[in-house]
Amino acid sequence: MPLLPRRFERLKTVLNQRMSDLTVLVEHVEKPHNLSAILRSCDAVGVLEAHAVSFSGRPRTFNSTAQGSQRWVSLHDHADISTAVHHLKERSFRLYGTNLGVDARDYRDCDFTGPCAFVLGAEKWGLTEEATALMDQAIFIPMRGMVQSLNVSVATATLLYEALRQRQAAGLAPLNGEGVPAQHYSDLLFEWAYPQVAAWCREQGRSYPELNEQGEILEDLPRTAKLRC
Ligand code: SAM
Repeated sequence: MPLLPRRFERLKTVLNQRMSDLTVLVEHVEKPHNLSAILRSCDAVGVLEAHAVSFSGRPRTFNSTAQGSQRWVSLHDHADISTAVHHLKERSFRLYGTNLGVDARDYRDCDFTGPCAFVLGAEKWGLTEEATALMDQAIFIPMRGMVQSLNVSVATATLLYEALRQRQAAGLAPLNGEGVPAQHYSDLLFEWAYPQVAAWCREQGRSYPELNEQGEILEDLPRTAKLRC
């Protein structure tokens, strides 16, 4: 079925609001419903991509809680926490480790308008000591109930929405694609619009064809590729 102009507009509207400088890193968050809910919140807020460190050898699974958000927010796996932290620090992210300990700062007192990564820990144990030591700032969400902590996906959503709120208040939340580097933007738009053709291009080792304003492919592709449209 050809890509409808309305669908193409919707893809652009969502991509125009994506932020490459807001992300989450989850450490050993293994339950499919939690990972799914985290990616769904990332999609809702406009996170471009998320990061994970998982127990080696365990395949990643999502469930219906994700509502397909894993298609719109890519999750990058890292071998271990120090590799993940190094990757993010090289990209100038400030790392906020969630920590229920006494040294942590109330998340509402932090400035999340710059490049920031929220680092969330395992359902049962929280962040490892190694991860905690690598953080730039420990933060917590105040609790007023009998239970000591929030569900990890709820904590993620709370922090992401605070970052979005601050960015919107400061006029820094992107609306026209300025939150994503130009080449990445056009590649992603193509992948979202034509996932099968994009896969074919990658198999062929070639770049993606250009699109016109209506989202139509501006190239006469071979029949095998056209069948994937
Ligand atoms: N016993 C664990 C601990 O002490 O960290 C509880 C883990 S909690 C269920 C799972 C993850 O959710 C935490 O590692 C943290 O990332 C996040 N989280 C839960 N409640 C939080 C809160 N009040 N503030 C910040 N993060 C929280």
